Amino acid sequence: MAAKKKKKLKLRVDRVIIAAVACLIILFGLYKGISFAVSHVMSLFETEAITPQKNDKPKNYKATVIVDPGHGGYDVGANIDELYEKDISLTTAKAVAKELDKADIKAILTRDKDEALHDNKITDLKLRCDMSKENQAKYFVSIHVNDYDKTTNISGFEIYTKNKASEALATSIGNHIEKLNYSKNRGMQDGNSLAVLRDNSVSSVLIELGYIRGKDFDYLNDNQKLEKIGQAIAQGIIENIN
Ligand SMILES: [Zn+2]
Repeated sequence: MAAKKKKKLKLRVDRVIIAAVACLIILFGLYKGISFAVSHVMSLFETEAITPQKNDKPKNYKATVIVDPGHGGYDVGANIDELYEKDISLTTAKAVAKELDKADIKAILTRDKDEALHDNKITDLKLRCDMSKENQAKYFVSIHVNDYDKTTNISGFEIYTKNKASEALATSIGNHIEKLNYSKNRGMQDGNSLAVLRDNSVSSVLIELGYIRGKDFDYLNDNQKLEKIGQAIAQGIIENIN
């Protein structure tokens, strides 16, 4: 009887040992499996974290230019039918910015969508000016379209300057737009009374791309031509920075 009991006990001990070993094997397997999964997931995150770092390598910009599409939002600017100055200026400004970036010049738009910077027009203009100082810009370039109350034959683009220092920039931009042959160059104008020029801390120009009521309408209403004008404006800026 005692021997039988002993045998039974030994059998039970054996089972416990086998079960314990089996448990250890299972736990070891689980540990290996989980650590493999964790390291695999972590490696995914690592590559994700490294890739944008490579792409976002800060560009070595030569200078910063504030590009200001006039008006926006409630303030539509000059208009005829469905054509608004605020849209013409934005399309052109985006083309300027794109071209400047290609030449390693950082372009900052005062607005990149159809919105005003402030409900109050005076504050709106002040906020645009402030961006020059905030971003240590070299130039401020504002883009507008001319209007005229009556039906008129008046046409052409003109560039307003802040001071003598802005004149070289205005001349280069004017020469490049002129080459497109869309309209005549009405030349440089005194822009000292214009808030975005007067209150600006850097050399600044304001370009009136043309007269919306008249023959300039044809190119002001053509986005592809506006892009060409934007590229020409950028070329004038690039020439002055290089
Ligand atoms: Zn305007």
